[in-house]
Amino acid sequence: MKKKKRKKTIPYKEIKNFLTKDCIPVRLEGDAIPNKFKNLVKKKKCYVYASGIEDFSSDTYDPNHSGIQFGGLQIYRDATMDPEPYLFNVDGYSMIIDSTTSIEIDLIGPEKTINHWTNTIASGLTGAKVQFHKFPKCPNCGNIIGDVAICNYCGWIRSK
Ligand SMILES: [Zn+2]
Repeated sequence: MKKKKRKKTIPYKEIKNFLTKDCIPVRLEGDAIPNKFKNLVKKKKCYVYASGIEDFSSDTYDPNHSGIQFGGLQIYRDATMDPEPYLFNVDGYSMIIDSTTSIEIDLIGPEKTINHWTNTIASGLTGAKVQFHKFPKCPNCGNIIGDVAICNYCGWIRSK
């Protein structure tokens, strides 16, 4: 019997800080990983990549998923303990948002591509900037601050 896929959703606020104007991928670590995947990354070593466009208002509505597809998640799971002779297996998710509410994101997938089993991380992802915190952008002024404690643009200080 075919197992029915449960729909995954993640709060928009868990991903919005990693969106860029031109959909540049980032690699998420630690606190930056959406809660939905925290258990997975505790159990297995994973590389979690996210990419998405900051201003999705001009993107096209996808009637099949009742929302706008504005980005994606790629999860490379360590497969060295699996019987298959590969380093990773890859699952991809499309991120769909209902632009009227912008509260939750539907993850469509996992899509298993032809490269589901692989030894290499896709060339577009290898140099991705690593984000450790939920808020790489200053929540006060929007300046990109990465994982530093103080925004040197407006002086905002990260609380522990
Ligand atoms: Zn700031």
